[in-house]
Amino acid sequence: MIKHIKPVIVVHGGAWRIPDEEIQAHLNGIRVALQEGWKILKNGGKGLDAVERSVSVLEDDPTFDAGKGSILNTDGSVEMDASIMDGSNMKAGAVAALRNYPNPVQIARCVMDKTEHILLSGPGCESFAMKHGFHPSPIRELMTERELHRLESVMLDEDFRAEHAFGQKRGTVGVVVLDEQGHIAAATSTGGTPKKIPGRVGDTPIIGAGTYAEDGVGGVSCTGWGEAIMKVMLAKDVAERMRQDVDAQTSAEQSIVILKERVNGLGGLICIDKKGQIGVAYNTPRMARGTMTCEQDDFWVAVE
Ligand code: ASP
Repeated sequence: MIKHIKPVIVVHGGAWRIPDEEIQAHLNGIRVALQEGWKILKNGGKGLDAVERSVSVLEDDPTFDAGKGSILNTDGSVEMDASIMDGSNMKAGAVAALRNYPNPVQIARCVMDKTEHILLSGPGCESFAMKHGFHPSPIRELMTERELHRLESVMLDEDFRAEHAFGQKRGTVGVVVLDEQGHIAAATSTGGTPKKIPGRVGDTPIIGAGTYAEDGVGGVSCTGWGEAIMKVMLAKDVAERMRQDVDAQTSAEQSIVILKERVNGLGGLICIDKKGQIGVAYNTPRMARGTMTCEQDDFWVAVE
């Protein structure tokens, strides 16, 4: 007999000092991403399709640091990282330092589905995308005035360190779901951190650092200072707590303490445990996020 589980989706739009005047745009973006993912889940669709769809919606929204609206490198280029993981079979796909494609998460999915690899980077990844029918966009279509201005100001600031610059940051995006079949999936996408050197890759495309999903354990998507997140393998740290039957919220909070204590990292994460309970924790001033479940039959979104 097939057991139908109540689906759950949780979405984030980055952990940083979101200014008051940008709160509404963040809440709207999260809401649309939730609704798009939920349409798939409520019709019994695959969690993997839901995370890909919701992350794509957020990549298209210039409010967030992913796809269109990505933070610029020191040479003014856009290089994006993304990953996706299917908890039902532990398959994963990821792209790093990808230029000229508006939806990196879709290419990450294609890497997962069509290759024996997990992570493709740079020019090889771009020709892979082209070969699989993705259409490149000129960089000006991914670039916003806002990010051009930010680049000018951070380049003038010799002491600028992304590590401490969460007032200057933008929101990486991520989604975790539990679907009706009981499968867990997670995906994360980012334009990276301000003043990054071309070729820099953060935690987002690293399975176990920025993203993790495993049926019977849980799913996680992280955001924040990638250099710190990678050192503690934050997504896997949360998953290992959930594996020990610690609930999602407690696991999220414990791992954020580890991020701060061990490597002085700033960031946040969302997760779902095997029971479909959600967890959210962050140590930045704000984090954009929201969730939707059958019980509520609607959703909540928040930044505080
Ligand atoms: N974790 C991302 C990176 O380091 C940035 C972010 O989540 O804000 O590239």
